[in-house]
Amino acid sequence: MKTKLSHDMSIKLANDLFEKSKINSNDTLYISSGYKTITISVPYNAPGKITENVFQVGGAGCSAGFDCFVYLIDCAGKFLLIDAGTNIGADKIKNNISQLGFNINDIDKIFITHGHYDHADGVSAFKKSCKAEVIIHEKDIDAVSGKNIEKTATQYLGDGSFHDFHPDIIVNDGYNFKVNNLKCDVVHLPGHTPGNSGILIEINGKKILFAGDILGWMSEKWQSNLSELEKSIHKIINLKPDFYATGHGWYEEEDLEYQFKRMVAMVEDKVVNLVLTKKHKLF
Ligand SMILES: [Zn+2]
Repeated sequence: MKTKLSHDMSIKLANDLFEKSKINSNDTLYISSGYKTITISVPYNAPGKITENVFQVGGAGCSAGFDCFVYLIDCAGKFLLIDAGTNIGADKIKNNISQLGFNINDIDKIFITHGHYDHADGVSAFKKSCKAEVIIHEKDIDAVSGKNIEKTATQYLGDGSFHDFHPDIIVNDGYNFKVNNLKCDVVHLPGHTPGNSGILIEINGKKILFAGDILGWMSEKWQSNLSELEKSIHKIINLKPDFYATGHGWYEEEDLEYQFKRMVAMVEDKVVNLVLTKKHKLF
């Protein structure tokens, strides 16, 4: 479910999330006040189909509290999983996959959009249950392999620990792979983290882009970069997706123009720049 909230409601939601989270009380959770409404994907989606061959199987209300949105793509009997959520949520995500009538053993590849706790901590739990190859961009390997745990953001989202792993396939922009006959193009979209990357697929003429975190929390601790983010936003718009799925919300054709305008305005106004000075932004 995607709901447009008034500014006051979005502040309340942010405060509620702040209360429940483990964010350091010295940090500030910043919500834009420059727009009459903001779109927040309220995290209570039930698992199910969201567009052509694409299913949401994980997310805050769907699996565990801090899970990102986890997507499963049906490629004619073989599957691509986009992100893995947290280790705490992994059993629920697996259960959601079974409830939809799919078999976890048929997951061929797991693409991790970036090395944050809410996207990547669950990988090791999936590795125990299926033989899927795990793919990630080279610039986020130091986060997931345990070399730089601060880059996973577990200090904010988890308990300070992280289930590290070694990816099977390390990629750069322009890499592509297939799951059955579906071609999957890797699109490097840095800014939130140095390695944040998306996957572009086309199903029945519909361009579907999974982008990871774009307007996510930014911090020097995970090497966020505002000018890289600005370039990534324009790259997304130039790709002209018909369906745009991020780590914390997804947008269909009728919402895309609004969403893209908001992204550009926020970067141009340097609203997100505030987060680089140890503040945090919810988007
Ligand atoms: Zn993130």
